[in-house]
Amino acid sequence: MAIKTVDHELKQRIRHSLSNIPISLNAHFGDPCQPNQWENTLDKIRYLKSQGYQGEIEISTKWILTDEQLDTLYDLAPDLWIICGVTGLNEMKGVTMEERFDHYLRVSKRFKKVIINVRPLIPGKNDSMEVLAPIVEVAAKGRRLLKHGGYVNPTSMDNSKTKYDDLKKEIHAYCEKLGVNDGPKCTCLVTDVTGRICTTFAELEPTNLDVLEALGFDFVMEDGYVRLTGFEGSGKVTKGDVSFARFIIQSSRIRSEWTDPHAYMQMKNPDGQTMICTSSWFHWAKEVPCMVNCFYCHVRPENPFINATQAGDTGCSPIDLYHYLFED
Ligand code: SF4
Repeated sequence: MAIKTVDHELKQRIRHSLSNIPISLNAHFGDPCQPNQWENTLDKIRYLKSQGYQGEIEISTKWILTDEQLDTLYDLAPDLWIICGVTGLNEMKGVTMEERFDHYLRVSKRFKKVIINVRPLIPGKNDSMEVLAPIVEVAAKGRRLLKHGGYVNPTSMDNSKTKYDDLKKEIHAYCEKLGVNDGPKCTCLVTDVTGRICTTFAELEPTNLDVLEALGFDFVMEDGYVRLTGFEGSGKVTKGDVSFARFIIQSSRIRSEWTDPHAYMQMKNPDGQTMICTSSWFHWAKEVPCMVNCFYCHVRPENPFINATQAGDTGCSPIDLYHYLFED
């Protein structure tokens, strides 16, 4: 890979853009807080902090962290986002709902940026207010941020989630009543708290188009919107490319016209590995056998799509991407 030559001012802006991308750590296969992944998660946080990373950093976990683990995390990154899975689906044998509620409240006591994640909502299992109301109630006692999402069938290749529009309204009404923010996307919750730009919905004039071009994205402008046409001449666009490009241009104004509905990007990391970007987070993950063992897991290595394109370690620090592409 040849180093790309760009002028100093553009280089500075590329570095700034990449340093501010919201990043999710070890949220692929293997919980970031399980014993054989924990040190790697800490190393990634340490590394980002040592680079002066300025973006939001998150870990999503269904593990029950000890107070010692919370202390360690807090010492390293008090501004970390912690997304606690509380679904009512009995993940991890022997862990009761009360323990999960207590865990969320302990995390909320220590950290400011904490979201309850009720995902996936599986028809006939946890898609009723009987299951969900107590979760909203506990969210109201903590940081008052709640995210929910539909089920992805692990054997389906189209990456679509179960729809639950009526239930969504019920959840929202109850959240509103109890003062809980259940913004439609994780990025909405994050930007509501931080005041950053919500790139999923902000109808702002796209910026950094020269950064987007320098990173290798092909695009045309149409009525103030970016339409991606490929990556380094590929003629193809993935949903992951679109999500990443939104972070770069700091606007939602990109046509959602991908030719592939999956979250992987066409750009590779410095080791040639896959990179993944969703609407809320760029992912940096090591893959280890997951100890949570959710019966509904859609990222198990046997998932045909994940296996073909996204299995193994993915992503990197976006600042490493900058060094790889633009610095000797
Ligand atoms: S089993 Fe799958 S869904 Fe469950 S925590 Fe692990 S990776 Fe996530």
